[in-house]
Amino acid sequence: MLNINITRTTTPKQKPNNPLIGIGKAFTDHMFLMKYSPDQGWHDPKIEPFHDLTLSPATTVFHYGQEMFEGMKAYRGKDDDIYLFRPEKNGERTNMTNKRLCMPEIPVEDFVQAVRTLVELDADWIPGEPGTSLYIRPFIIGTDPFIGLTPSETFLFCIIMAPSGPYYGKDEQAPVSIWVEEEYVRAVRGGMGFAKAGGNYAASMVAQANAKQAGYAQVLWLDGLERKYVEEVGAMNIFFKIGGKVVTPALTGSILPGITRDSVITLCRSWGLSVEERLVSIDELVDANRQGLLEEVFGTGTAAVISPVGKLGYREDVLVINDNKTGPLSQRIYETVTGIQCGALVDPYGWRVKI
Ligand SMILES: *Cc1c(COP(=O)(O)O)cnc(C)c1O
Repeated sequence: MLNINITRTTTPKQKPNNPLIGIGKAFTDHMFLMKYSPDQGWHDPKIEPFHDLTLSPATTVFHYGQEMFEGMKAYRGKDDDIYLFRPEKNGERTNMTNKRLCMPEIPVEDFVQAVRTLVELDADWIPGEPGTSLYIRPFIIGTDPFIGLTPSETFLFCIIMAPSGPYYGKDEQAPVSIWVEEEYVRAVRGGMGFAKAGGNYAASMVAQANAKQAGYAQVLWLDGLERKYVEEVGAMNIFFKIGGKVVTPALTGSILPGITRDSVITLCRSWGLSVEERLVSIDELVDANRQGLLEEVFGTGTAAVISPVGKLGYREDVLVINDNKTGPLSQRIYETVTGIQCGALVDPYGWRVKI
């Protein structure tokens, strides 16, 4: 149990005018902060008015990227109830990431308590329109003011929050076009692809920028060794419906284990669908598409929820999926996941946490 010291703002900010697009640039009135040092452990948990950080230019994170983050959301339901979705999973994943990055673990219940307390305090920032939510960004940085290449010994855990609308800036359910990336890779086995670490995203930006220029929303990464097997999309895991079966790449170490991915697998199995977690080669997808068996493709992630993929750009070809329309399985998953998240549907899995 954290003893969180709360200092409320005396100058609440203006909330952004709708319509919200993407993950906001406007942040809520408050932020959570907690420090770590070897002798005190995690200490001094507090909530303060949102403010800039002051750090030495020698700080570890600026030079060696010792940084991790999480992404989660708070949802406003019909009766103004507020919910989190499987927040303990974000706490567990934080610790998995932290171990990989030589960062101290945080007790999962403390992580969840910090998120809950901040959400409660800034609850009036949670928008209520369909497709909107409050995006929550916990992150940890190494803070030693020292440029020797060793793991930092001190850390700062911080949580900021931003009201957000549909991720791709339009109808959440409109299919996106995705570029199959063959030149650059995001992560390799043994690296830190399974961790939500800032460095992974720095490595991915050049391919993302090129894809955008070519008219694609995101890139689909292939494995770093053979560039043969499909891994995932920028901030989403990827699913395929091939000949009636649901298929998603297995978690081989270079793929981020998404909480939405896990939820979608559970839902599909509960509906009696066969779900295979295995290697999926790009050739298999091209063949399946040619034979008319590639029925649906969709990405899953907290930010985008479910994002149907209408086109896959691969070399000189464009694979068109389901006529570039949202498929019935994508639609069903979208309605079920968002329905559970905002309290409109029963939650047989105990995923929803009421605040
Ligand atoms: C965050 C993220 C995901 C999705 O994870 P969720 O827990 O479902 O939000 C997938 N891939 C990458 C690379 C990510 O950063």
